[in-house]
Amino acid sequence: MTKIAMKTPIVEMDGDEMTRVLWAWVKDKLITPYVDLKTEYYDLGLKHRDDTDDQVTLDAAEANRRLGVGVKCATITPNQDRVKEYTLKQQWKSPNGTIRAALDGTVFRKPILVPNITPSVASWKKPIIVGRHAYGDVYKNAEIAVPGPGTGELVFTGADGTVKRVLIQEFKGPGILQGIHNTEQSIRSFAKSCFTYALDEKVDMWFATKDTISKIYDQTFKLLFEDEFAKGYREKFKAAGIEYFYTLIDDVVARVMKGEGGMLWACKNYDGDVMSDMVASAFGSLAMMTSVLVSPDGVFEYEAAHGTVQKHYYKHLKGEKTSSNSMALIFAWTGAMRKRGELDHLPALMAFADRLEKASLDTIAGGVMTGDLARLATPPAKQVVGSEEFLDAIAERLRG
Ligand code: NAP
Ligand code: MG
Repeated sequence: MTKIAMKTPIVEMDGDEMTRVLWAWVKDKLITPYVDLKTEYYDLGLKHRDDTDDQVTLDAAEANRRLGVGVKCATITPNQDRVKEYTLKQQWKSPNGTIRAALDGTVFRKPILVPNITPSVASWKKPIIVGRHAYGDVYKNAEIAVPGPGTGELVFTGADGTVKRVLIQEFKGPGILQGIHNTEQSIRSFAKSCFTYALDEKVDMWFATKDTISKIYDQTFKLLFEDEFAKGYREKFKAAGIEYFYTLIDDVVARVMKGEGGMLWACKNYDGDVMSDMVASAFGSLAMMTSVLVSPDGVFEYEAAHGTVQKHYYKHLKGEKTSSNSMALIFAWTGAMRKRGELDHLPALMAFADRLEKASLDTIAGGVMTGDLARLATPPAKQVVGSEEFLDAIAERLRG
């Protein structure tokens, strides 16, 4: 059998612990038997990040920008324990943070749906993709504990010395004060990444703020989104048959809970933090959640939303059987291959991505699943399998 040919390499970022083990299996069992896989490989495993003083992460991010499509394994974000465990030179920054900053990207989380896992929200039939603005607001705030009576003010001093001053509150006793900010450039990049991804997924896009209450701060988000939409996306949305819908945050929450899903929900930073966890848990398992980083100019990086599954890895090292679910890792690879196929006009590669996804979904629908899903499945699983057996079951369907 001749293998499916590729043109441009995919940027492959290897990672840590259990996901690193699964990563190699996914490639060996499900991809390389069918695809003449071309990747530009970067080892983002913690040891190698330490050896290269984290240069490898910067190089991988640059490669992703240059080549347009990347796929990333989960990586350890070191804390004090990890510094000791790996005798690190220092507590390196989160690779995801570094890559996100380099690509100026927005992260979109999308659940993988299977018929035997019912979402906790009965009306949800299609995936709800959550896009979270990852800059500013309360995550980069300044706060003051007000000790007693006094005047709380907001002050801006321009580079030319002009001062703007607004009274927040005349305190009669102790209280609290908070200052937050965002930048026009970051909001515009966020808007463009969201519109780009909605087009890519061919789904409606919803965005909401509290602009009735916050007449400058939230209103600015609303206006900048409208402006970017009018400038670059209105016609493209029309051609794709999708809509951009703006409303208030409380209204959107009510609509999401009553609706059937199937949209991209663009969220301000805090809303995205809170709502993505709600949506993820309602759809079932963390192992069924994919994650895509999209830059405003259309660079894509695919990964699983979960971490390195450390606990399973320690069992694996002791030779014990694990039941880790590789669905999100598989879908990271299929996402990258489909996108690469689309950009390079390789229908065979795109069709293979579809075929691999179908084989994976059919395996679970047929009752063969890992422990995390077996806990949730109706009807109950026919066979609860280990990490490697699950991949073998998918491989068999692919062959068949
Ligand atoms: P985690 O790796 O997501 O795992 C948390 C728990 O969720 C696991 O113990 C497991 O539960 C369950 N789980 C997650 N993925 C699963 C899968 N594929 N199959 C089956 N069960 C799965 O989170 P963590 O343990 O908090 O973090 C471990 C490391 O990952 C940390 O060093 C962190 O820095 C890193 N991390 C990386 C990323 C990334 O690179 N994108 C994201 C998050 C965390 P049970 O033990 O109950 O089976
Ligand atoms: Mg959260």
